[in-house]
Amino acid sequence: MFEKRYPGHSSFFQVRNVHIGKGFTIIAGPCAVESEQALLELAALLNNGAGLLRGGIFKARTSPYSFRGLGEKGLAILEKARENYDLPVMVEFLDQEQISLYAEKVDIVQIGARNMFNYPLLRAAALSGKPILLKRHFSATLDELLYAAEYILELDNPNLVLCERGIRTYETRYRNCLDLSAVVLLKQITHLPVVVDPSHAAGDSSMVEKLALASVCAGTDGLMLEVHDNPIKALSDAPQAITSGQFSQLKVKIERIKSFLL
Ligand code: PEP
Ligand code: MN
Repeated sequence: MFEKRYPGHSSFFQVRNVHIGKGFTIIAGPCAVESEQALLELAALLNNGAGLLRGGIFKARTSPYSFRGLGEKGLAILEKARENYDLPVMVEFLDQEQISLYAEKVDIVQIGARNMFNYPLLRAAALSGKPILLKRHFSATLDELLYAAEYILELDNPNLVLCERGIRTYETRYRNCLDLSAVVLLKQITHLPVVVDPSHAAGDSSMVEKLALASVCAGTDGLMLEVHDNPIKALSDAPQAITSGQFSQLKVKIERIKSFLL
């Protein structure tokens, strides 16, 4: 079991000019790409704080009546942001067809929590040859997460980062429970880089900063943050989005914490 997890060794890879697993990487952007103007304005603000730009174009919403993303039109907007600001872009794909049509156009493929157990999708993502960010399913054990990772690694795609984004417990006061023990343990038992998404864990912007800083202390290799310039108006995951101003403040605090940890 776990033939490719190589404990005692840390792997890293490059997404265009940005390293993941070496130094500290921040992936930031809106839950969903909503309009060209909004994304370009946000990308301009994130430009010297985030390493990568995220933005959903195919949204796996719990309700089919919620905003489900701009699709191809959203991808064109992300490509424009990449061109203008030299930010690599990360996009989630929900099925194999989307991977075959669009993976080539993005810099890193996101596999969302709901799809961690979708093995044909993991294989298609691996075979695309693109770097992959694999989110932990909200009910997955760490062994299940590591086996999902093996589906990618065994196809000789080593450019993989795991993402802890909160799990379901009996608690209902926040969206998910951020499992920082997972971050500590994953760093011990696998070579893979691990990033934390405090936004989907918290489900509320008021909790994001502290969870992000706690994740830094737990040894995460980076963060994925949902940022929106008018969170109240966001078309998806509005309650958890931080503003670009809050993002800049958080960046300063991350640097301070990291200097203590050295
Ligand atoms: C997301 O990153 O926008 C997302 C849908 O996250 P998750 O798959 O963790 O729910
Ligand atoms: Mn989201």
